[in-house]
Amino acid sequence: MKWLPGCVNNMDTKVITCMEEDDKACLTEAGRILQSGGLVAFPTETVYGLGGDALNPASSRKIYAAKGRPSDNPLIVHICRFEDIYRLVSDDPEHKEKLAAAKKLADAFWPGPLTMILPKSEDVPFETTGGLHTVAIRFPSHKTALALIAAAGGYVAAPSANASGRPSPTLAKYVLEDMQGRIDMVVDGGEVGIGLESTIVDLTVEPAEILRPGYVTEEMLREVLGKVETDRTVLDGSSGQIPKAPGMKYRHYAPKGQLTVVSGEPETVISYVNKQIEQAKAAGKKTGVIAAEETRKDYRADVCKSVGSRQDELSAAKLLYRILREFDEENVEIIFAEAFESTGLGQALMNRLLKAAGHHIINV
Ligand code: AMP
Ligand code: MG
Repeated sequence: MKWLPGCVNNMDTKVITCMEEDDKACLTEAGRILQSGGLVAFPTETVYGLGGDALNPASSRKIYAAKGRPSDNPLIVHICRFEDIYRLVSDDPEHKEKLAAAKKLADAFWPGPLTMILPKSEDVPFETTGGLHTVAIRFPSHKTALALIAAAGGYVAAPSANASGRPSPTLAKYVLEDMQGRIDMVVDGGEVGIGLESTIVDLTVEPAEILRPGYVTEEMLREVLGKVETDRTVLDGSSGQIPKAPGMKYRHYAPKGQLTVVSGEPETVISYVNKQIEQAKAAGKKTGVIAAEETRKDYRADVCKSVGSRQDELSAAKLLYRILREFDEENVEIIFAEAFESTGLGQALMNRLLKAAGHHIINV
């Protein structure tokens, strides 16, 4: 694993508040910081992003340093108009069909929580793509994000604004927890809407392949493209295969406590988890449970947190990372989580939960 040189940890990180409905004049300064090579964290509809000028190699290097992110883990380039994709993508005629597929997906899902991988143009520095000849592109729908991208000149590289390995931030306070003193500015736009990172689809392969599940599901992509596959490492950590999105091979989203996902019939899961909790408590450990609203009260852990009704996967997406960070704040040492369905948005939730648990799952 290669690491870029360490970064300063003593900058003044300015915080400005700019809600979606606010006058975007508040973003002029943020845009200027980005244009001059600085870093600004900002809200999107998925999670907070840590932005730098995507076409400036020095900015991308700073992003890796601020996050402590391995330099082979590429960044997603954010744009604010579909036509800006053409500067980022190779104009070699052999890629015409990939661009046509991108256009179809854009018509259906952009602006929105979908990232597309395409062959890169020479304008995109290898520092931004982690050395790859492909580039990840997203056109978000969050109004503040769009105004900031426009103010920055149109191309903003932005990974999630957490320190590498920590849960992605869904609130500005969590950005500051990880990034205070390391970046120039945080734009506080309140709590994000979706709470899980974008779906990533690789259009450089045939058929297109989902590298990271998200709000835009495999079923939704199939309706537009026909055949779509999902990288099998998304839910299977034991396959021995390396995930195709370089970032997905690292342990991610991890809380500080030890997290185990428990799958099975609800009553069996409850009785198994309660037994484990008793043992952990007897050993003097502080325990926690992540459960659906319907079963939360059945657990005897010190801290039981609900991700919302089992019917409401959107609520779970929105709350998952926040709950993982809250367990850290409350110094919970042993955490059990109920499993989610592995279809639709549940697949994205299960993917993040399994990564947070280092793929530690028990079927009871
Ligand atoms: P984050 O920016 O934290 O949401 O992470 C971005 C994710 O996109 C990481 O898992 C990267 O590995 C993945 N990614 C970015 N660019 C590419 C690319 N060109 N090919 C494959 N995966 C990519
Ligand atoms: Mg991330």
